[in-house]
Order: sequence, then structure tokens, then C-alpha cells
Amino acid sequence: MTKLLLASRNAKKLGELRRILEAEGIEGIEVLGLDDVDEFPEAPETAPDFEGNASAKARDAVAATGLPAIADDSGLAVDALNGMPGVLSARWAGRHGDDSANLELVLAQLRDTPDERRGAAFVCAAVLALPGGEETVVRGEWRGVLVRERRGENGFGYDPIFVPEGEKRTSAELTAAEKDALSHRGKALRALVPALRELAG
Ligand code: IMP
Repeated sequence: MTKLLLASRNAKKLGELRRILEAEGIEGIEVLGLDDVDEFPEAPETAPDFEGNASAKARDAVAATGLPAIADDSGLAVDALNGMPGVLSARWAGRHGDDSANLELVLAQLRDTPDERRGAAFVCAAVLALPGGEETVVRGEWRGVLVRERRGENGFGYDPIFVPEGEKRTSAELTAAEKDALSHRGKALRALVPALRELAG
């Protein structure tokens, strides 16, 4: 079994990666999370782009554990805000992780933006870093529009105001399985499959 560290404590992300490996028939990889390894200091995310943050997180995890590691970084890029909040998505209203305040601030900023200019994309960069220094960098995007009022109880973050292309429901009204199949994170993790197949040997 090759051990693979996903640099996250999020059980949903761990489950999603395990399900993708299973669906792709990749055997011989055991996915661990940060709670399964000795604790190491996690540096703040300071890169100007998703790829930079994901790469730094993955490389720190490899350096601390000696294991191959995957890290991801994601956020919402709003057309009418020139791609912001982007890497600042988790702290857009000033406090890290205040999902409700972040969403309300984006809604307020877009109050006068007409419907035809309310496009946005969820973006996820994922990086597989190996102890030898090799890195595979991939990106997944999920386009949609931002509605004016929140709807739905599933998901997190900006999901209640994001209606994916081809959908009438917000991503907070999709089931977890529906979201996995369409989302930026699902796309990015699936884009790592060829590299993971190689890792599995
Ligand atoms: P991180 O990649 O865990 O640092 O997440 C960055 C931030 O982007 C989150 O706090 C959310 O605000 C936003 N975000 C990323 N992915 C999603 C998603 O799937 N739905 C809603 N918000 C998301």
C-alpha cells in the first residue's frame, strides 16, 4: 500500500478523494488526512493564486511527513469583481471562515449588477507533490451565476447564491453526490487521476 496524505482535516474532502480512487479502480493507495499524521505547523496561505497556495501546502506536507501529498485551494471568482474574492474567498468580510458574512458582502457588492453580468466560477487548484520534488498541478472550474437571495441548506460558503450552468437550483440545493459530480473540486481531483495511477504503480 502506498500512503498518500491529503493535507486537510475535512472528512468530506477525504471521502471524496477515496470515492474517486475507488470509482477509477485505483487500488494500492491508502489516503490519510492531517489527523492521521503527527501535527506540524501549517503556514498561512499567502500566494496570489490558488495554484501557489495549493503547491505550498502540498510541499509543506511532504517536507513534514515524507509522504506523497495532495493539497487544494479553492474559492469563488466573480466576473463583476474582476475575479475577486478569489484567494481571499474564506476571509472576504475580514474574518477567516465567516461564510455568512462573506456571502452577504458579495451580495451587497453586486446589488446593482444586472442579471446578465452576474457570472462567477468556483475554482479549485489541486497539487500532488512527491518526496522526490515532482509536482502535478491541476485546476477545476465550475461556472454559474450568482442569484440575489440565498437558497438551500446543503454545502457551505457561497453555495446558497451560486446556480451552476445548466441548473435551476443553487449548489446548496444539490445533493452531495450531485455536487461532487459537477464541482470544481471534483473536477480538479479527477484531473489528478493519471498521476495517482502512476503513484499506485
Ligand atoms: P479553502 O479552499 O478550503 O481555503 O476554501 C476557500 C473558500 O472558498 C471557502 O471558505 C468558501 O468560502 C469558498 N469555497 C470554496 N469551495 C466552495 C464550494 O464548493 N462552495 C462554496 N464555497 C466554496
